[in-house]
Amino acid sequence: MGNEELKEIAGHLRFEAVRMIYQGKDGHPGPALGIADIVTTLYFDEMNIDPENPKWEDRDRFILSKGHACPIYYAALSERGYFGKKVKEYKLRALGSKFQGHPVMNKTEGVDMTSGSLGNGLSIACGMAIAGKYNKKDYNVFVIVGDGEIQEGIIWEGANTAASKKLDNLILFVDKNNWQSGGAVSDTIGSNNVKEKFEAFNWHVQEIDGHNIDEIKKAIALAKSKKGMPSAIICNTIKGKGLDFMENNNLWHKGVPTDDQYAIAVKVLGGAK
Ligand SMILES: [Mg+2]
Repeated sequence: MGNEELKEIAGHLRFEAVRMIYQGKDGHPGPALGIADIVTTLYFDEMNIDPENPKWEDRDRFILSKGHACPIYYAALSERGYFGKKVKEYKLRALGSKFQGHPVMNKTEGVDMTSGSLGNGLSIACGMAIAGKYNKKDYNVFVIVGDGEIQEGIIWEGANTAASKKLDNLILFVDKNNWQSGGAVSDTIGSNNVKEKFEAFNWHVQEIDGHNIDEIKKAIALAKSKKGMPSAIICNTIKGKGLDFMENNNLWHKGVPTDDQYAIAVKVLGGAK
């Protein structure tokens, strides 16, 4: 798909994420908007999937390890047709809703793995990638983690395993927005030198602008061509990207737009289609 078309879809998915948070009066808009361009490129250009057959054995797999960013994931799945007709009201985070505050694999079509307990996604992806090789399948496994999330120790157990097992069917995106729930990543862990850390674990590492669709596409192509090692794509992103009042403002890690702010989102992001 062309880059301009993908950009337009990303804008619409951003609106849908804001809409479901506004309607549900709860959720994480900043993290969702920050990964919109990565999720759009995966679901509308890159991944080999069949929304009619969500459990298709040969499909590419996706794990949103930073599960709280799920509004953008639900919007992408809806737009791709996983839920039949488009979802009018998500009831995000409501008891019994298909659209929980963190993705649940046995509740929501198209969700390959339950996530939200931070850190687990990469190690689970290693298992999926090992299974793919064992079963001689040529699918790829894509994962998105946050730069705060990678403080979890299990991330580095996964990183070690992926390199030692030469999991070249595993592609990890690090959403490097320099924030985490409680504040700046640098205040928590010191230097946010993600690239050097993954290089030290013998990964193939690229660093790109996580909002530039062309760079995302090219990075995925290069990652897929690199044989014998897993790939990390460090994506420099802006938390809340797409709405001025949210951008780089960590107060929007979790929050609900006011009526006036929602009106701005409708205007800037195009509203419902
Ligand atoms: Mg972060």
